[in-house]
Amino acid sequence: MQNKKIVIANWKMNPLTGKDAEKLWSGVAKNLPTLKKSEVVICPPFLYLEKLKSASRRTRKILLGAQNAFMGDTGAFTGEVSGAMLYNFGARYVILGHSERRAQGETNADVNQKIKSVLAAGLYPILCVGESVRDAEHGYFNLVKDQLSECLHGLTKNWLRKLIIAYEPVWAISSTPGRRDATAEDSYEMAIFIRRVLADKWGRDAAQTRIIYGGSASDRDAEEFLSRGGVDGLLVGRASLSPEKFVKIVAICEALKS
Ligand code: PEP
Repeated sequence: MQNKKIVIANWKMNPLTGKDAEKLWSGVAKNLPTLKKSEVVICPPFLYLEKLKSASRRTRKILLGAQNAFMGDTGAFTGEVSGAMLYNFGARYVILGHSERRAQGETNADVNQKIKSVLAAGLYPILCVGESVRDAEHGYFNLVKDQLSECLHGLTKNWLRKLIIAYEPVWAISSTPGRRDATAEDSYEMAIFIRRVLADKWGRDAAQTRIIYGGSASDRDAEEFLSRGGVDGLLVGRASLSPEKFVKIVAICEALKS
């Protein structure tokens, strides 16, 4: 586990206009507490990165991230944006393998290529893993293990220092029909499991890799996940669209006893 927590906003395909994106950003930036114990990253849609870059220069508190990147640097890939482009632009983090992209056909092999590519470009990948359902036989542990070994295939131990793993049980994500809440125990159990998988493959130091929890995390349960969920931070979707809630989550991180 790391000393500093990280809180990452995944705005997904929101908001509808650049003006609203600026409003949302400044609603967070203006009200953030002094960051001593946490890092804050916002991952807006690509389209708003440019606008928010100048805002981020003014505040310097919030780092910029993206929600996807293509493999390779440049080339004939219509509609794609590469990790190298994002890095050159000034983004530093990128979410990869999100369940909403996997639902559109992204495979572990695709995610593996993307991770290698964005690491080479200098970015910090946020790899999303997590099961859609929990079966009584605990097969979901194997699913997460396979996601980890296929998505991280061929990576050397040194690269793991830049990696963040987001455990996002799909059944707890706010947009999942019939969703239910995950508990800090669910998060803790999986975080331990992920650390063990990493340590088995890459050695003891690999267990230091940052692991965060995502799935309807909000100001109501952030403290619970952060203090008892065995994680180094949170990936926040819906609640990140409310500056008040998002800022509260960051304030909770800052108030945690270290
Ligand atoms: C997500 O899907 O990455 C996420 C964290 O969403 P939510 O918080 O809305 O469940």
